[in-house]
This record gives sequence, C-alpha cells and structure tokens, in this order.
Amino acid sequence: MKINTVILNDGNCIPQLGFGTFKMTEEQAYDSVLKALEFGYRHIDTAAIYKNEIGVGKAVHDSPVRREDIFLVSKVWNDRHGFDETVKAFEETLAKLQTDYLDLYLIHWPKEKNSETWKAMIELKKQGRVKSIGVSNFKKHHLDKIIEDTGVIPAVNQVELHPQFQQEELREYSKKHSICIESWGPLMQGQIFGKSEMEELAKKKNRTIAQITLRWHIQKGFIVLPKSVNPERIKSNREIYDFELSLSDMKFIDKLNLNKRIGPDPDTITF
Ligand code: NDP
Repeated sequence: MKINTVILNDGNCIPQLGFGTFKMTEEQAYDSVLKALEFGYRHIDTAAIYKNEIGVGKAVHDSPVRREDIFLVSKVWNDRHGFDETVKAFEETLAKLQTDYLDLYLIHWPKEKNSETWKAMIELKKQGRVKSIGVSNFKKHHLDKIIEDTGVIPAVNQVELHPQFQQEELREYSKKHSICIESWGPLMQGQIFGKSEMEELAKKKNRTIAQITLRWHIQKGFIVLPKSVNPERIKSNREIYDFELSLSDMKFIDKLNLNKRIGPDPDTITF
C-alpha cells in the first residue's frame, strides 16, 4: 500500500513514513537506501554529521526511482551555523548527494547563531535551492526566537519522540503554529523492544513491536523515520498501512509516556 503524504505549512507535501540513516556507514547507507526505495519508501533522512551523504546520494542516483519522486532531507551541523557557513555547508551537502536541490533542509540542533542560520535557510528557499526548511531539536523558546527575528515559521521540527517521550507541550505549540512534528528515534533507538507492554499489544495484533510502534506514530499524525540496515526489517517497517490501532490500543500506548528522553536535552548539549 502506498505511503500517504502530509501537507506542510508552506504547501509542500511530505511522505509521512520516511527512512532514517543515522549510524550508517557510506556502504550501509548505499545498500539500505537502495533497498528502502525498492520497498516503496520515498522519503530519505540524512545529515552532514552522519557522514553517509555520499552513500545516500549514490543510492538515489542508482535507483530506478526518479529523483523528483524522492523526498530528500539533510541537516546543517552545529559547527556550520551562521549565514555564510550554512550556505557553504548546504553546497557541500548537495555535491555529496549528487543533486541540485533538497526537498527539506534542517538546522540539526539549536545553537547561539540560530537566527543567522535560519536567515540562510530562508534565502536558500527563496532561491529555489531547497523546497522546504525546518529545524530539529528546537524547544519552544528556540522557535519563538527565530520566528520573532525573521517572521518565518519552520515547516517541520524533527525531535526525539516515542512512546516513552511524547513531547505533549511541544506538540501543542507546534499545532498552533502549523509546524509538522517529525519523530526521531521512533523505535527508541531499539529500546522499544524491551517494553513488555508493547510485546503484549504486538501479540494481540499479530504484528511486530516495530510495526505497532510505527503505526502509533502514523495515527498520531507524526512524520516517522525508522532506521534499519536489515533488509527484512526495512521491508516489514514499511508494512504498516494494512492494519489500524483502535482508540483503546492508541490510549494503551499513550499511557506509556514517562516524559523521559533517551537522547540529549537540546538545552544542555555539549557537542
Ligand atoms: P530508531 O528508533 O529508528 O531505531 C533504530 C534501531 O532499531 C536500530 O538499532 C535498528 O537496528 C533497530 N530496528 C529497526 N527496525 C527494527 C525491527 N523491525 N526489529 C528490530 N530492530 C529494529 O532510531 P534512530 O536514532 O535511527 O532514529 C531514526 C532516524 O531519525 C535516524 O536514523 C535519523 O535519520 C533521525 N535522527 C535524527 C536525530 C536528530 O537529532 N535530528 C537524532 C537521531 C535520529 P538495525 O539497523 O540493525 O535493524
């Protein structure tokens, strides 16, 4: 079944199920992205810091799927903030990805020069080099500041989000500003498989824990980016459009929220 799309606040469409590439080597990224495209994924998420943009770009280039049918995303790393550096980093990313435009470019983490970096993103969008622009790991106060300084609201905010850390406050704010939420670490970077409640629900639905979890993200309306280097898992993580979670299944997962991150807090990162 086809992956649905979501309309962003700038009018562009994004496939709701994407494919993550964090911690993949260039070779793994090449093989896995090729597989993902073969299995029907059309949204690929990478970042300069993953050091696999060349592998991702080669897979996009070698795949029989046309470039214009792929939603390609990358992110500017923390040491490239500021207007000129961001533009340079963007050019480097395009060259590695073997493309002349991105579908979405994100500020990877908030830093002191957020507004200057954001102004570069706005300029790149104006020039048509990137179709949509957004941020990642931004809290409400980071968002308020860049919006106040530029008047431009990000199309997406990619944040840690999974059953144990559901980001309710940020979701409320995002809804008010029509900012689309993307879940990173949707499977808790593998830790979801240790949750007995999820195992119970997966058994009841005769699905894998990953499928149940990803389906929960989809029904919540989040963009979701599972990562796998294993072809069978890449395929089965894609097979989440032929079943539904009931309202009580959804509430069962909602109740697993502990407001507990597994990744770093954006206000105290040291990298
Ligand atoms: P995920 O929650 O996607 O979990 C990935 C882990 O789960 C891997 O160990 C993978 O192993 C395993 N896994 C995947 N599918 C299955 C399955 N069906 N059964 C069993 N194990 C499975 O974590 P990520 O951190 O990778 O997050 C997803 C994406 O979000 C990233 O790849 C990246 O694109 C983005 N991201 C963005 C961040 C940001 O700061 N903006 C931070 C972190 C991630 P295996 O590969 O062996 O299958």
